[in-house]
Order: sequence, then C-alpha cells, then structure tokens
Amino acid sequence: MSRDFRRFYCPQLADSEGTGGARVELTGEEAHHLLHVLRARVGTRVQLFDGKGRQAEAVVTHSARGCVHLECGEIERISRESGRRVVLATALPRAGRERFLVEKAVELGVAEVWFFEAERGVARCSSGFLKKAERTVIEASKQCGRNTLMPVRCRPLDEILSGTPSTADRWIAHPGGPFWSPDQTGAEATESAVLIGPEGGFTESEIGRARSSGWKVVSLGPRILRIETAALAFAAALLLGRD
Ligand code: SAH
Repeated sequence: MSRDFRRFYCPQLADSEGTGGARVELTGEEAHHLLHVLRARVGTRVQLFDGKGRQAEAVVTHSARGCVHLECGEIERISRESGRRVVLATALPRAGRERFLVEKAVELGVAEVWFFEAERGVARCSSGFLKKAERTVIEASKQCGRNTLMPVRCRPLDEILSGTPSTADRWIAHPGGPFWSPDQTGAEATESAVLIGPEGGFTESEIGRARSSGWKVVSLGPRILRIETAALAFAAALLLGRD
C-alpha cells in the first residue's frame, strides 16, 4: 500500500468501480478529519476506500460547508484480508475496553467480531455500543489499510454455538481445559471460531452447551488473561503467517 496518502472512508466508490474521474463527496466525520485535522486544501491527494474492498486515489477539488468534493483516479479492488477466516466471539468486556479489542482485531485481520451477553457477564449490548464499534472499525481500517470493514455484531450465545458451521475449527477458551497449541489447527484449515468468556468465566451450563454443539474446550496457559488479551492472542496465533 502506498504510505504517501492519508485514507478516508467513502462508501460511494462502489458506484463507479473500474472507472477513473468519478466525483465523490466526503461529509460528517470524514470531511471534518480531512479539513480540520489534516488541513486539506484544493489539490490535496488522499486515498479513499469504500469498506467493501475498493480503493482509489483522489484529489480534493473544492469544499464548502463541511462537504469535501474529490475527483478519483482508477477505482480498484485491492484485498488486504487474511487467507484464513477467523471469527472472534467474546463476552462483552467492561465499558471502554471493547474499543481496544475491536481496533486490534481489525489490524490482525479478524473476519468478524461477535459480542454476546454471558450468564456471568455485566455489560449489555446496545445500539449505541454497536455504533461506536463501527466507528472504531472505520478508524482502524483507515490506519491499517484494510479495504473491507470488519462486521461487529451482537448475537445470542446459543445462536453462535449452533449457527457456526461444523466445518470450522470451533474452540471455547476455558481455564483448566487441555492446552491449545497452534499445531491443533491444520495448515489447510481455512475457518476458525473462538469463544471467549466474561471476567467471571463461563458457567458449567454454557460449557456443556458448547461441548454438545461440537465446540472444543481449550486452555490458553496457566495464567488468567483478560478478555481482550485472550481474544487477541488467540486470533494472532491463528492469523499471523496466514496471509
Ligand atoms: N475467572 C474466570 C476467568 C475469566 S477470564 C475463570 O476462571 O473462568 C475471561 C475469559 O478469558 C475466560 O472465560 C476465557 O474464555 C478466557 N481466558 C482467560 N485466561 C484463560 C486461560 N488461561 N485459558 C483459557 N481461557 C482463558
């Protein structure tokens, strides 16, 4: 990826794929960032991405009342997704800690993050929570070069347990289980799902339901990790070297 240009999220690119000279606009937070943080002027060059896999270089042609107009070069499909699909399903961490988890998951190349409300969990999923998470995904994608936005969803635990394809490697992290090691996943495995519990841990009932849906209980070592450490360490072990 070119390191010369700052990146901005522009969902409109999709409409003009393959062409050069398309005219697009940035409004809201993206326009604010471009105008007031980077102090862009007419002629400033940036990179745009649409969150669905496309990117283009673009030049600012004019701006008025918080809206920036740009002219695009060729709109290309460039993937920086991982070759392996890893889904992180984690109990909602305490307020404020989820930002770190979502940001790092985007950087590592996690395919999707699903939050669930665990029996012993304290946090609750809300539309405000998801909106903030979506903004974090955009910011992290601008920084790390991903052109596809990583979906973040709230899903009931039982839907995650029964709805994840049985062809995927499915692990539930629980202290005291047999130790997990990267050798447990074949080099050819293309899809994995990882379940991480709340600060209070999974209940016996949750572990039992996961086992009977075909999930394997694994330990991540003798130390107790915070939700975000457990989730990101597991994701990194599955993803690094798989591009
Ligand atoms: N007190 C809880 C630990 C909660 S840590 C208990 O004893 O179960 C939050 C979550 O991170 C756990 O539910 C588990 O999914 C994961 N986790 C943390 N450390 C782990 C470890 N050493 N092995 C496996 N999972 C771990």
